Amino acid sequence: MDSAVPATLELPLAASAAPDVSIVIPMFNEVENLPDLVARVGDAMATSGFGFELIAVDDGSTDGTPELLETLARDRAWLRPVILTRNYGQSSALQAGFDRVRGRYVVTLDADLQNDPLDIPLLLQRLETDPTIDMVSGWRRERQDAAISRRLPSLIANRLISRATRVNLHDYGCALKAYRRHIIDRIRLYGELHRFIPSLARDAGARIAEMPVRHHARTRGQSKYGIDRTFRVILDLVLIVFFMRYRQRPLHAFGGLGLWLATPGVLMLAYLTIVKLGGEDIGGRPLLIAAVMLILIGAQLIVAGLIGEMLTRIYHEGQGRPQYHVRASATGDTPRAG
Ligand code: UDP
Ligand code: MG
Repeated sequence: MDSAVPATLELPLAASAAPDVSIVIPMFNEVENLPDLVARVGDAMATSGFGFELIAVDDGSTDGTPELLETLARDRAWLRPVILTRNYGQSSALQAGFDRVRGRYVVTLDADLQNDPLDIPLLLQRLETDPTIDMVSGWRRERQDAAISRRLPSLIANRLISRATRVNLHDYGCALKAYRRHIIDRIRLYGELHRFIPSLARDAGARIAEMPVRHHARTRGQSKYGIDRTFRVILDLVLIVFFMRYRQRPLHAFGGLGLWLATPGVLMLAYLTIVKLGGEDIGGRPLLIAAVMLILIGAQLIVAGLIGEMLTRIYHEGQGRPQYHVRASATGDTPRAG
């Protein structure tokens, strides 16, 4: 399967000058949208004044998307197909694109033309003219999706995620976003975390603005998701909140909960000891079982927290990931070498 993409395809590009903008589009069975998509992105960018490349990541399509991509790329130097061996999901497809970006700016959008390529230069203009912003997130103010099955769950999700991660956005789900490159370099997507990119970006130090963008109904192909994503989003939210607040101090999360449980357990045991010393039998008292359970669970949570602390150290030191990011400054802060 790997041989479907000759490695040489990517070589000449690496040697050419880097474009200003890398546009990343994940696609899974979008063959009907592809010709229009490529044409409209090309048109929108040609008049924008930005040099660009389109990194089209095929996420294991079975409808001929990869073949068509290769054909389209033949007479478009700016089109770079990346063909994954199977369907990994939208987050991995995006990450595959992020791993290949070369521009100062990175733009993402969906392949189904629900986002309008004409909005890309507008988002870029915002980044170009406002140095206090690292990321512009699209806001589908007039969203063209079904009200009950799509817009209502998404309204609730946006409120919930904004509140829990303290990054206030109207529209987390909009795929159309523009970033300064260094933000993308700091983010890694796993599972289905593409829905939480603004939270991850904020965690990586990004200053985020929101901008209304156009939105169209899907006219061709099918949505890849159903209502069943609701529960997964809730679990992912727990993960993100934990990561944002406690990644560098897991003992405070686990140990804190452990102490809250163990402390009443210890008090109960102390009380039972006094009762026992008073000559009463405590062997059959439910309170005894409760006290022992609380102390045991509490102790285990504290141990889990300590193991978490060890993992945190391995994560940062073993992987060479810094605990912090420094904002670029004119006076030039440079860390001590070595
Ligand atoms: N997509 C993908 N891999 C998947 C599912 C979706 O690359 O496993 C792409 C899909 O082709 C589209 C984007 O992710 O470009 C968003 O998917 P979709 O439009 O189905 O989601 P919706 O807009 O309905 O939320
Ligand atoms: Mg869509």
